Amino acid sequence: MKWPGIIAAYRPYLPFDDQTQIITLNEGNTPLIRANRLAEHLAPRTGLKLYLKYEGLNPTGSFKDRGMTAAITQAVQEGAKSVICASTGNTAASAAAYAARAGLRCLVLVPEGKIALGKLAACLTYGAEVISIQGSFDDGLAMVREIVQRQPVALVNSINPWRLEGQKTGAFEICDQLGGRAPDWHCLPVGNAGNITAYWMGYKQYGKGLPRLLGGQAMGAAPIVRGEVVQQPETVATAIRIGNPARWREAVQALDESGGIITAVSDDDILAAWKLLARLEGVFVEPASATGIAALKQQIDQGEIDPTDKTIVCVLTGHGLKDPETAVSHATTPVTLPANTDSLEQYLTTHP
Ligand SMILES: *Cc1c(COP(=O)(O)O)cnc(C)c1O
Repeated sequence: MKWPGIIAAYRPYLPFDDQTQIITLNEGNTPLIRANRLAEHLAPRTGLKLYLKYEGLNPTGSFKDRGMTAAITQAVQEGAKSVICASTGNTAASAAAYAARAGLRCLVLVPEGKIALGKLAACLTYGAEVISIQGSFDDGLAMVREIVQRQPVALVNSINPWRLEGQKTGAFEICDQLGGRAPDWHCLPVGNAGNITAYWMGYKQYGKGLPRLLGGQAMGAAPIVRGEVVQQPETVATAIRIGNPARWREAVQALDESGGIITAVSDDDILAAWKLLARLEGVFVEPASATGIAALKQQIDQGEIDPTDKTIVCVLTGHGLKDPETAVSHATTPVTLPANTDSLEQYLTTHP
């Protein structure tokens, strides 16, 4: 079947009617990958069934496209000519792409020096006006919230309810891919907390059962875990470098309702999980995306989650090529050899 994008695929569950002109890049329908080697590493011989929802395979390389098709479709329907967002990078790239497709002007505010290279490259190429602000994501969000009160420009951050409407379709897909039921646990990184809120909406609406939610925050940017705003959030996982999440209250409610857990993991633990994903499963993600795996490992190790015969889904939010600089800086350097077979043979035999 030809996949039409998430709005057409799940229209009965979304607040759009047949007349709506849909702005889509055929986002969604991402693979749910069984991860047996990683499962065996995290919880040997427990019968854990671990799955990776690889959202990095969306059109602009992150789950943000699910929400953006809905937000831009609605903005066009309301007659908007310009859209704006604050972003750690992926919302900006997604807004830029969907705005280009709709012929809208797009402004994106990003924290100076803290946006991963692949995200910046995409925003610029899609033709967005990239404004680098001398502050954090949280400062940028405060600015865009105010400017939309004064100027005729549509806000497409996840405080826009249409974003959550689109993003909740990830939960529908997971239930469909598991044969019509929800997993026991659903693990994901938490930054601005839009995604955890949207997934919970989706599971509740779809009626195929409810998972318990496990949210992971980076230790240097863990306001929900600590119960207070973090003034200077810092983490290698730039996509979740957020100190004052816009969907904080909704996230806490979702966690409570699901009997869930939110926990903080160190940057070292995030990077260790990020390497495991690549080396055990061949799945390359940006660092923030490994936070759900790091949180799951921590909770299994601490005995808080019993993996025995459980079905657990981890959402991998963004593609590894988003952040090539972090990847290269944490890798070994390539071996250089003269261009002849003897050198290659010598290398092979001396490096068993
Ligand atoms: C946006 C984003 C997150 C965080 O999602 P929230 O909805 O802000 O909690 C995590 N990982 C990646 C790659 C993202 O782009």
